[in-house]
Amino acid sequence: MKRVKVVVVGAGVVGLSTAVCIAETLPYCSVTLISEKFSPHTTSDGAAGILLPKEFPGIPLERQQQWFKKSFDHLLAIADSPQASDAGVYLSSGYQVFKDVPRDKKPFWADLVFGFRYMTDHELKRFPDHKFGQAFTTLKCECLSYLPWLEQRFIAVGGQIIHEKVTDLHKLALNYDAIINCSGLGSRFLLKDEEVYPVRGQILKLHAPWLKNFIRDGDGNTYIYPGIRFVSVGGTRQADDWRMELDERDREGILERSVRLEPSLRAAAILGEWVGLRPARENLRLEREYVNVGGRAVPLVHNYGHGSCGVTLSWGTALDALHLLRKSLLEKPPQARL
Ligand code: FAD
Repeated sequence: MKRVKVVVVGAGVVGLSTAVCIAETLPYCSVTLISEKFSPHTTSDGAAGILLPKEFPGIPLERQQQWFKKSFDHLLAIADSPQASDAGVYLSSGYQVFKDVPRDKKPFWADLVFGFRYMTDHELKRFPDHKFGQAFTTLKCECLSYLPWLEQRFIAVGGQIIHEKVTDLHKLALNYDAIINCSGLGSRFLLKDEEVYPVRGQILKLHAPWLKNFIRDGDGNTYIYPGIRFVSVGGTRQADDWRMELDERDREGILERSVRLEPSLRAAAILGEWVGLRPARENLRLEREYVNVGGRAVPLVHNYGHGSCGVTLSWGTALDALHLLRKSLLEKPPQARL
């Protein structure tokens, strides 16, 4: 019989990965996923889904490398399996180009992707505005396919799903033995955590099936990511900007910058546009605390604030959240020790 009742809040890539991890690893737990929004309406659904880490300044680099390595290895196994097409996960090769030579030419994730090398002068001739470049193969995980696929995996191991907005974690704690908070930007309201803030991103979905390799400007502002259904072309990074409406000037800027990077895009038709708010935080929050209700201390594990790397770090951080949960279930809660 499943004795331990666990609830995961949030059904983006972080929440679903965490829910699947727990439900598949801890058979004695009954796992419920509660979320206000599900695929295709989460931020994760609009992400290009390219696996490319960014450094969080206050988190040991080895921990970040482990998050990325575990995510990469997990998604690579899916890409190499007959499930790849349903899950929307595949290898993707391309270039990251820089207008100025970066101080750190070899990033901390260089040995974790495939075939990382510096671009040759011959290759760089295609990018006259840029002086330096990196070529590598990473993975692309398209959440429009991956999230429904994860949801099926969760249901297949007995996971329960509830569509609901959570407004009070204390009330939730009355009905569960452990809570895992994966509410992304929602944590700003649910926990009053003002350290998590939006970084607005607008993208264009272009029809350009001749493009097979990604191109990204190292400044992070312009990128071209060929995908299964369309090419995601971005973008913007507007901190503290909550607007979900499309912005005409942003569209023009994206088109101008991306055509400069890849002139053939001039011929591409626009299939759609999208705006999403990255759940940014100086340092992603992955830690445990307790909620005290009715004389019980209920473990509350946080896993949010992934910014522009939610897909990139999804499985590695889910494994860490699982570890914190398992530890909490084995330990005595704080007041039981008094
Ligand atoms: P979300 O996907 O936002 O999910 C949060 C979930 O919590 C939702 O289901 C929501 O309904 C739920 N929730 C919130 N509050 C509550 C509440 N009170 N009660 C119940 N449910 C609640 N990342 C990459 O790794 N690679 C990329 O190439 C990439 N490209 C991007 C491009 C753009 C333009 C943008 C905007 C983002 C991109 N990202 C990318 C970042 C990525 O989208 C995020 O890091 C990721 O979606 C975060 O996942 P999440 O599950 O934490 O949040």
